[in-house]
Amino acid sequence: MGSVVFIGAGPGAADLITVRGARRLAEAEVVLFDALTDPALRELAPQARWIDVGKRGFCHAPKQTEINAMLVRCAQQYQRVVRLKGGDPSVFGRLEEELLALAAAGIGCEVVPGVTAAIAAAAATQRPLTRRGLGRSVSLSTAMTKEGSLAEATPPSADTEVFYMAGRQLGALSRRLLDAGWPGDTPVLVVSQAGTPDQRASDHEVATLAAASMLHAGRPAIVTVGAGARPVLAADGRSPHAATVPHPAAAGTPAA
Ligand code: SAH
Repeated sequence: MGSVVFIGAGPGAADLITVRGARRLAEAEVVLFDALTDPALRELAPQARWIDVGKRGFCHAPKQTEINAMLVRCAQQYQRVVRLKGGDPSVFGRLEEELLALAAAGIGCEVVPGVTAAIAAAAATQRPLTRRGLGRSVSLSTAMTKEGSLAEATPPSADTEVFYMAGRQLGALSRRLLDAGWPGDTPVLVVSQAGTPDQRASDHEVATLAAASMLHAGRPAIVTVGAGARPVLAADGRSPHAATVPHPAAAGTPAA
């Protein structure tokens, strides 16, 4: 019986994986990976059998229970199994279910962290998630419920709220944030494909967030609301860095 290493692949670009993650990959006999990971990561484990368990690898997306069962079967067959996940495995990665399935089968596991999309978006736009005095707390939320609808409005949980899986529902998220008590002029940063060469970022306000829909349609996107969405400004009011590429179709102001 083998063991399973969960590895965070980071947000897209292959060189954002950790050194430990790359080392474990190089030892893998089989790698189960998701749709969001960079194909260039394959070069880190050319010896391994790579199995796509994301949407693109099958005519239907495998259900979580099928992935759990595949992981167990692989660990019974191979000594070194890697489960490669986009971003960090512990953030909206269904890690709990997979850990439980492996524990039930008596299979040992290790988790190697990765750069989660919220952090990649902050780095790519040079917008720190915490700010001295103004941004003392950060929350990571999914905009969706288990059933796939938008989660209920709850009062702001942190000075900076970061939403995953909101890309398709930015208009509804805007209304939800207003209902939750965020002022309409609160800054919102939307970054899609963060950490990849095709990254896109735009600035909005809570009340007008719906305008970001077209620009980021069909792309994995992170929505940062509140203190961490503000550009870093020098004393003269100018942004010291031009970190992101404006898009001609930007409905909001391109992020500086
Ligand atoms: N475990 C992943 C999150 C998986 S949930 C992580 O830690 O990043 C999938 C959601 O993550 C997407 O709907 C999107 O909101 C976000 N996401 C993943 N990769 C992204 C990227 N490169 N840029 C922006 N958002 C991304």
